[in-house]
Amino acid sequence: MGKSSGEEKGYGMKYAYWSVICKTPECGNRHYAKLIGESEGRTNYLLQGDLPQEFHYHCEKCGIDHSYTVDDMVSVEIDPPALSGLREWW
Ligand SMILES: [Zn+2]
Repeated sequence: MGKSSGEEKGYGMKYAYWSVICKTPECGNRHYAKLIGESEGRTNYLLQGDLPQEFHYHCEKCGIDHSYTVDDMVSVEIDPPALSGLREWW
């Protein structure tokens, strides 16, 4: 039982981003706010930089504006280059 050794190697490098989930309940669209950097394989990242107290974002999926704070930020890890053209929030 258990995995054979050596299979863990070679997976693609992932990148971590700050994101928020659209506050429209039936929408759930994820907005990517800022690139953190290469994944360090952890789930807690420190928010860095001069963050505004409030972010406003117009969701292109449901068309509604919501405001977000740093408490709404969730880190997420994905493979590049899915977010080419990301406009960072701060
Ligand atoms: Zn939305």
